[in-house]
Amino acid sequence: MARFDAQPFVRSVDNGILGPFRVPSAPGGGGRMRRMGRVVAVANQKGGVAKTTTVASLGAAFAEQGMRVLLVDLDAQACLTFSLGVDPDELELSVNDVVLGSAPATEVIMTVADGVDLLPSAIDLAGVEAHLLTRPGREFALRSALSEVVDDYQVVLLDCAPSLGVLTLAALTAAQEVIVPLQCEMLSHRGVGQLLDTIEDVRRILNERLVVMGVLPTMFDARTSHARAVLDDVGERYGLPVLEPPIPRSVRFAEAPALGASILATSSTSKGAKAYREVALGLLRAWKLGPGRRAGRRRSTA
Ligand code: ADP
Ligand code: MG
Repeated sequence: MARFDAQPFVRSVDNGILGPFRVPSAPGGGGRMRRMGRVVAVANQKGGVAKTTTVASLGAAFAEQGMRVLLVDLDAQACLTFSLGVDPDELELSVNDVVLGSAPATEVIMTVADGVDLLPSAIDLAGVEAHLLTRPGREFALRSALSEVVDDYQVVLLDCAPSLGVLTLAALTAAQEVIVPLQCEMLSHRGVGQLLDTIEDVRRILNERLVVMGVLPTMFDARTSHARAVLDDVGERYGLPVLEPPIPRSVRFAEAPALGASILATSSTSKGAKAYREVALGLLRAWKLGPGRRAGRRRSTA
């Protein structure tokens, strides 16, 4: 089975993504050489596959490792925003204003639970999609809006909506890498081919540096051989690395959002929290980022 050291990472190194790179000229994006944080989109147009849970949990795990982390909520349901203890109805500014260019990201980003920063969503994000549709260069809206803050972070995670709409395209255009969470159930991977086609289009037309890091199996039930079979099949069928370990199914995940923090804080020693920590460490190793390299600023005892 493909693992962390599989092809896409090699390709990302060859592309020079690990070093400073040129931000292509995009509307408002500039063209300077800059060292930027890693921008990773967590995407799957299917709902309920644990995109939001993955963003919150990996974000907390990176923060535990001393990384400066920004999470961006791109879903009009604002689940990530809610789950980190922020009421989207009470926000004066949100990612909407940032994407539409009416407020700088620095004015909207807030520090939340788990030692991460959040660019929160508000419910009217759905209206933003309609607004963006009338604008030229709309796919670059997020990339250029984030360009002034990515340098302040080592990892930026984009929590995509369950659609392949404008905001998901904008996320794929802003990102260097994509992680595809996948529920290990029969047929749950039916949309993966379509997602990969979209990613390929984005790579060809909008963002040539984009690399799929792999699929992340979620809600994994090790007791069923079926889950393992689905996993192996998906890795092979799409030629994608499978990020390990799979995230086990656990009720602890459902409890965390109501407590306003990720499972890493609310159930720190649970198997689910440990699995996300391991995935995060694997990603840091693949990026050659980690304690003792560029990090070390913050270390939690969780
Ligand atoms: P998405 O963002 O893809 O729609 P969510 O992260 O919101 O998915 O997860 C959907 C539901 O599944 C949520 O209620 C969440 O708490 C739950 N969930 C996520 N991961 C797990 C898991 N490993 N085990 C059990 N439930 C989970
Ligand atoms: Mg979600």
